Amino acid sequence: MYIEQIKKLVVLQDIDNKLIAYREKIESIPKELNALKEELEEVEKKKAEIQERFDFLNDQKMKMQTEIEENNNKIKKVKNKLMLISNQKEYQAMMRELDNFERLNRTKEEELTTVLEDISIHKKDLDELESKEDELKSKIEVLEKENITALDEVKAEIARLEKEREESCALIPPPILARYKFIRDRLSQPVVVAVSNGVCTGCYISVPPQTYVELQKGEQILNCPNCQRLIYWEEHYSK
Ligand SMILES: [Zn+2]
Repeated sequence: MYIEQIKKLVVLQDIDNKLIAYREKIESIPKELNALKEELEEVEKKKAEIQERFDFLNDQKMKMQTEIEENNNKIKKVKNKLMLISNQKEYQAMMRELDNFERLNRTKEEELTTVLEDISIHKKDLDELESKEDELKSKIEVLEKENITALDEVKAEIARLEKEREESCALIPPPILARYKFIRDRLSQPVVVAVSNGVCTGCYISVPPQTYVELQKGEQILNCPNCQRLIYWEEHYSK
């Protein structure tokens, strides 16, 4: 009688453990999905900011390159004219003009170098964010698919286990079931444990000799005096 009850309790314990694992799974996927979506949103926001700056820098670069080219054309024209001028004053005025254009272009080229460096830094950031974005998107896609199939499977499994649990509970006397539930709510797994060579396999402490003798009689379900788990003698029961 006692060992039949223990067997039923062990079955119940297995069912409860499975139920806990399945319920955790049901909750864990949406949680993980939410975290990934939030991360993706952050990455996209940051990417948009950098993209804006990147586009602005590219506009700057085009403008500068056009200006430098225009200046170069002017320099070329002035140089051509220079060869045709014999008047000294006019010649000097043109040399000054030439100097100005050349100085202006040197400054613009320095500015352009800075902008180009800035562009390459932003490009690198953009590439990094893009690969992060791709990575997150594919993770989300996989998880979303998994969520749909897993959810259906897990829900069906939970429904089946709950029915099985009900049937098992009906076979266990209510006071024993109450003890099981009481311990289950307070202790880590497992709740129903064997005593092996006089040692409780739940807390790994020897049960007192008196309890051990009682246990071996196999008349009733006992608690481990140390951890309170429901105990049985291992020689009475092999799974
Ligand atoms: Zn114990």
